[in-house]
Amino acid sequence: MSDQHWPDMLGRIHTGNSAGVYYNYYADTGGAHRVSQQAPGYKASLSIMASSKRKVLVTLNFFAISGYGFSSTAGEMQRAKDNLVDQVRSLWNQRRLRMILFVLDDRGRPTGVSRNLDVEFRIRWTQSMASADYVLCVYPTQNDLPMVPGRTDRPPFVMSGAWTQSHRIEMHIAATEPAWTFSHEFGHCIGLPDEYSHPGVGYLKPEGREGLLLQRPDAFIPANRQGGVVAGRRSPDLRTGMSTNPNNNLLPRHLWPTAIEVRRLVNRLSKSTKFGVDVNFSR
Ligand SMILES: [Zn+2]
Repeated sequence: MSDQHWPDMLGRIHTGNSAGVYYNYYADTGGAHRVSQQAPGYKASLSIMASSKRKVLVTLNFFAISGYGFSSTAGEMQRAKDNLVDQVRSLWNQRRLRMILFVLDDRGRPTGVSRNLDVEFRIRWTQSMASADYVLCVYPTQNDLPMVPGRTDRPPFVMSGAWTQSHRIEMHIAATEPAWTFSHEFGHCIGLPDEYSHPGVGYLKPEGREGLLLQRPDAFIPANRQGGVVAGRRSPDLRTGMSTNPNNNLLPRHLWPTAIEVRRLVNRLSKSTKFGVDVNFSR
């Protein structure tokens, strides 16, 4: 409909701590508090192909090792790697969630010119730790995982490079974990927080304004600046791949951190046009 020039460009996602960047915690009094702990972060190559393939390709560099202090078998290593790749392909690369790139006018309002883009995440296995941003640490069984402070069980986890021996973002997981766990932990690798709501865990609170809020990519719209994870009782929003095993529900907000990075890149590199980015369900 227009002679709009759609960008094809390459860039990097390089977020060291996703808390305060992709999400915040809010009190009923209205104030935001940054989460005190280091949240995993998000590091990837970003290829925006809005002109050619109408796709956003996000490549994450992973290196796989045995969990510290263990020697996992080749079979266990392969099983974990395959599980991660399969879950990314079947769940995170589903075509239902798409990114929308839209053109803004001088005052930051949508002009009505937009283009839908598929989103594809790709795990790239590197030859060495040196060229990886993520380390997949594979344990033979869940009982072999390290004890997390304050817990009596040994859950899988993703940890910021600020705290790890490898200085890379580490996913600690057992080869025997079900597929859902690999998908959930991958969500942490692309900037997402947990969305648990059960008593004793203070992430998502169905009643009231207090709780977790993810940052929307279209933050230039003042009245709609923040998108709440908080929703009404019995809302299907309360059960997602980031909250409830074995629920595989993914919502537009689960691509918001990626959309924030796409918006940053296109607006930094495009010469004249200003773009907004959003995520929607589509068929
Ligand atoms: Zn989690």
